[in-house]
Amino acid sequence: MTVPIRNHDIAELRRLDLAHHLPAQADHRLIASLGGSRIITRAEGSTIFDGEGNAILDGMAGLWCVNVGYGREELAKAAYDQMLELPYYNTFFRTATPPPVKLAARIASKMGGHLSHVFFNSSGSEAVDTVFRLARHYWKLKGQPQRRIFISRWNAYHGSTVAGVSLGGMKAMHAQGDLPVPGVEHVMQPYLFGEGFGEDPDAFAARAAQAIEDRILEVGPENVAAFIGEPVQGAGGVIIPPEGYWPRVEAICRKYGILLVCDEVICGFGRLGQWFGHHHYGVKPDMISMAKGLSSGYLPISATGVADHIVAELREKGGDFVHGYTYSGHPTAAAVALANLDIIEREGLVERTREDTGPYLARALATLNDHPLVGETRSLGLIGAVEIVREPGTNKRFLDKEGEAGPVVRDLCIRNGLMVRGIRDTIVCCPPLIITHAEIDRLVSIIRRSLDEAEPILRALKPEAAG
Ligand SMILES: *Cc1c(COP(=O)(O)O)cnc(C)c1O
Repeated sequence: MTVPIRNHDIAELRRLDLAHHLPAQADHRLIASLGGSRIITRAEGSTIFDGEGNAILDGMAGLWCVNVGYGREELAKAAYDQMLELPYYNTFFRTATPPPVKLAARIASKMGGHLSHVFFNSSGSEAVDTVFRLARHYWKLKGQPQRRIFISRWNAYHGSTVAGVSLGGMKAMHAQGDLPVPGVEHVMQPYLFGEGFGEDPDAFAARAAQAIEDRILEVGPENVAAFIGEPVQGAGGVIIPPEGYWPRVEAICRKYGILLVCDEVICGFGRLGQWFGHHHYGVKPDMISMAKGLSSGYLPISATGVADHIVAELREKGGDFVHGYTYSGHPTAAAVALANLDIIEREGLVERTREDTGPYLARALATLNDHPLVGETRSLGLIGAVEIVREPGTNKRFLDKEGEAGPVVRDLCIRNGLMVRGIRDTIVCCPPLIITHAEIDRLVSIIRRSLDEAEPILRALKPEAAG
């Protein structure tokens, strides 16, 4: 397939961007000082192209989502065909359309176990909102309406809506909008490098899980509705918990009869080398949220997986669950998601991530461990991180504070042709699952070169010059 390359007037687009567009999660003063956003005009495979014609290896799969890579004609065709047949109809008032029904069955077969139903939404945040309302509604139906509290972790990311920000553990997000809403409790995250440096991983896992149990006992187990967590925290800095953490969390939830919710928005659809992140850790959540890789970002769609015992409660007690979106089960988005799952299956992307490219990425990242700015590299499947430190063998940051080094290295990576994110002082990557060995080698060599270039800049930092 050849796509005609359209010419865009980039200067005019940047002018209009500033004049009329407020991009997401942005420092608007900074964007204004830069003269507008960087305009990305096209993409193919694992590579994006900007308006200046620069080819950039997309180490972030868009925003952790383009699992099958860019330029997939069959996804465009699935949308085209569905739009002609039935572009839209809703799922309110006892109706449904073929694509979401088929997609629900397909997702159920991937979730397995006692998760056999899904509720559709359009974004990860909305999938989390559905969890929020359904968990509390469920406990009301069960005759335990006092179970309202959610337990989450500091530095978790669960989206940008009111419920998503509240359940999330980002203090800077809480500060805007007077959040969290009442009934959300945050506990420590399982971040070994940052919060348990040098500690035995299993002892640390036990300590981080104990923090959950302690809080449950503090607020009263009879008041707790659910615990929610990302199997691997993504936006928080690719925080991969020690293996013993999740089984302990599950045991604590079971002990007190609390719902276990896994936010699979990044970890789902092959990212960790399994269909879902909780499969890697061997736990059985009662609800899961999923989005991003479900359609590889080609259209907005998300789903909330719901365990049989919760569905049974809804069916037994009856009455409307008065929740749903105009675009719940959007047929065109669902058709694209189905075609996306076809690709993931046909190309064996889950197995390939687990057995081939995931281990390859881990080995490639580990070659950076000899770099004087690297404190740790870690990855699971195709999501990884490089910790930047002042002194190798420590977790000491430049100027003894967080966030000095990350943006410097990130900007150099982008200039050198690799899109990554810098979260505090952690460079993170989450490439498309179709990434090749040669592209992984390039990804790592650009990080190394950028670290080399950053070193003199970072060593010259002076406390007074910071800020
Ligand atoms: C991205 C993300 C969300 C929010 O998804 P949106 O589609 O941006 O609303 C929620 N949870 C996790 C774990 C995410 O990574």
